[in-house]
Amino acid sequence: MALLRFAVGRLKGHNESPMMEIKFHNTLTGKTEPFVPLHPAEVRAYTCGPTVHDFAHVGNFRTFVFQDILRRYLKSKGFRVVQVMNLTDVDDRIIQKAAAAGVSIREYTDKYIQAYLEDRHTLSLEPPEFVARATEHIDDMVKLIQRLTEKGFTYTSDGSIYFRISKFPAYGKLSKIDVSGIKAGARVDMDRYDKDNVRDFALWKAPKPGEHFWETPIGPGRPGWHIECSAMAMKYLGDTIDIHSGGVDLAFPHHENEIAQSEAATGKPFARYWLHAEHLLVDHEKMSKSVGNIATLRELFAEGHKPSSVRYLLASVPYRRQLNFTPDSLQSAANAVDRLRNFVSRLKSEKFPPGQSPKLSSRAGKAREDFDRGLADDLNTAVAVAAIFDLVRDVNTMIDGGEFRNGDVAPVLAALEAFDGIFAVLSDDDAEKLQAVGLTQAAPAPQDAEIEALVAERQAARKRKDFTTSDRIRDQLAQRGIIIEDTRDGGVRWKRK
Ligand code: AMP
Ligand code: ZN
Repeated sequence: MALLRFAVGRLKGHNESPMMEIKFHNTLTGKTEPFVPLHPAEVRAYTCGPTVHDFAHVGNFRTFVFQDILRRYLKSKGFRVVQVMNLTDVDDRIIQKAAAAGVSIREYTDKYIQAYLEDRHTLSLEPPEFVARATEHIDDMVKLIQRLTEKGFTYTSDGSIYFRISKFPAYGKLSKIDVSGIKAGARVDMDRYDKDNVRDFALWKAPKPGEHFWETPIGPGRPGWHIECSAMAMKYLGDTIDIHSGGVDLAFPHHENEIAQSEAATGKPFARYWLHAEHLLVDHEKMSKSVGNIATLRELFAEGHKPSSVRYLLASVPYRRQLNFTPDSLQSAANAVDRLRNFVSRLKSEKFPPGQSPKLSSRAGKAREDFDRGLADDLNTAVAVAAIFDLVRDVNTMIDGGEFRNGDVAPVLAALEAFDGIFAVLSDDDAEKLQAVGLTQAAPAPQDAEIEALVAERQAARKRKDFTTSDRIRDQLAQRGIIIEDTRDGGVRWKRK
């Protein structure tokens, strides 16, 4: 025991050095605080996954990309990450939609699970250690409800079982919701409800005529949405987990209810850090199916946008900042990714004089420090990205000024590799990824200004005899229907095919 405490203390001390301290904003405390996991060097994280009633939209992927950045970042810091993600494959909407389509819940949701996993791969989201379907964990949910009943936290009404929130005084501690005016015994049956509806919520729902149900020791029926996450999180990760995350809309009621269910059952803290991603907006309104302003990844790809542009856009805006989604923002993301890829290809293909320039190693070191400091500060990806672009600009200037040496390539590439361990956009594999999911892409017609910029970049590459880069840009433009003709006087003309 003493040894264990010593080990934890050592890790804490290590994390507390100014460079290494990782801070996350914890919705539970309302503060940005140092992150120290419960078990040394291991992070147990639960991720609220999608409700598979339809294709996930790019707003959902805003949150899923954040969860991937979080995971990759923790791994890059040497933590072993055990991540569990649920798939909500039974809820009010799924039951209605499967019935309307005349198919079983399983058949209905299989299609969207498949699509979701494909979409994740397309966006380079790493697979969590456990992906858990709610309908495969009904027993675990039933057992948890039984435990809550034994402890007096539930009551039954018309065959449904409710959680009595007046028995759990800490109710509201996550979302800071005011429960003072709540009427004892007032109930809500819907899985999704708003803040004006603070009521006892359904753990188990009696079947309506014709509805799918499970025959269980607590009666026939189906689980409420909230119980699934409590049951699956504790099954795979234990009573107390390190990080629980989701979009900000989940804080109430979903996460509040998860805390009530889990902590009432175990008497222990459920999740130590609650991280919530802000919404992706369209015209300053949350992207959501009910508003009708959604775009799926497949729609964006069909319009010619690349997976890497979508990932970069979603990743580069810090997760606690709202992100207004526009075609222009996707185009800027594509340009940023191209700039980075062209830079890497320049470094790898150009010949530099031998030796090392004295100022480069400290310049690359500073970029890595700034990158690290940005991410350690509650995953400030904007600062991290800026650190890399500043490095790219300075290195380009050094190359153009003849100061860059071949011994400088490795440290700069190492900085880009560290960047790509988290952002995962540098491999030029968009077309392959789309093909793998049966999509081929018609690239969008580029605007004149964009073409002029690429043509100028190609001219600059030719001037410095970097033919790999100039050919690459020519190919990029050709793929998008732009033909370049070099004129005899060393100039260049371009035209659309
Ligand atoms: P759902 O499939 O509705 O359960 O949502 C899956 C995830 O997407 C949850 O973490 C939601 O909070 C998140 N989400 C839904 N809409 C948005 C949005 N517009 N922006 C960011 N995250 C969202
Ligand atoms: Zn959940």
